[in-house]
Amino acid sequence: MSEQPVEQQTAEEEEGRPTPEERREWRLAALQLVRQFPDPALRNPARPVAEVDEDVRRLVDRMLDIMDRAHGVGLAAPQVGVSRRVLVYRPSDEEQPRVLINPELVERSEETETGTEGCLSLLGGELQVPVPRHMRVRVEARDAGGDQVDLEAEGFEARVIQHEIDHLDGVLIFDRAGDQERREALRELRLRA
Ligand SMILES: [Zn+2]
Repeated sequence: MSEQPVEQQTAEEEEGRPTPEERREWRLAALQLVRQFPDPALRNPARPVAEVDEDVRRLVDRMLDIMDRAHGVGLAAPQVGVSRRVLVYRPSDEEQPRVLINPELVERSEETETGTEGCLSLLGGELQVPVPRHMRVRVEARDAGGDQVDLEAEGFEARVIQHEIDHLDGVLIFDRAGDQERREALRELRLRA
């Protein structure tokens, strides 16, 4: 999932910190590594990970790097062309990113909320679509160390997790939008492809 558009850049130029121009260049370079709709990799359901080995950890490191450089808040393996059930996301600016391998939604609240989402694979995050999501979810998964994770999330974090698990099933945000919004999204994608 992509960040909401930033209205005002407040980045200060401090010694050793990337300048806003450098960050923009990194972002464009990282987006080159993210599959863009209608790439078929985005539509194929991803394969479960049998074992969390060195290969999987290398994939996770690559995804974390691309997510950060692309200013994303979440990224799923099919978005980098790898058909494995692996996702990474950042619950908030202050928190460390999380890694979920073979995630399963084991509980979903009946209560849903519609909010605007962007996706790094749809016009690099510029297309914004209103998507209804469960307010709270419980997820079982493995982490990058292969350990069992049992996680409860709500609000923004629950939304990001649902967005990224959708990628593992080949589902994109406009699939979940209303008819009108879906038509508009597809039209914009066609116009700007
Ligand atoms: Zn996405």
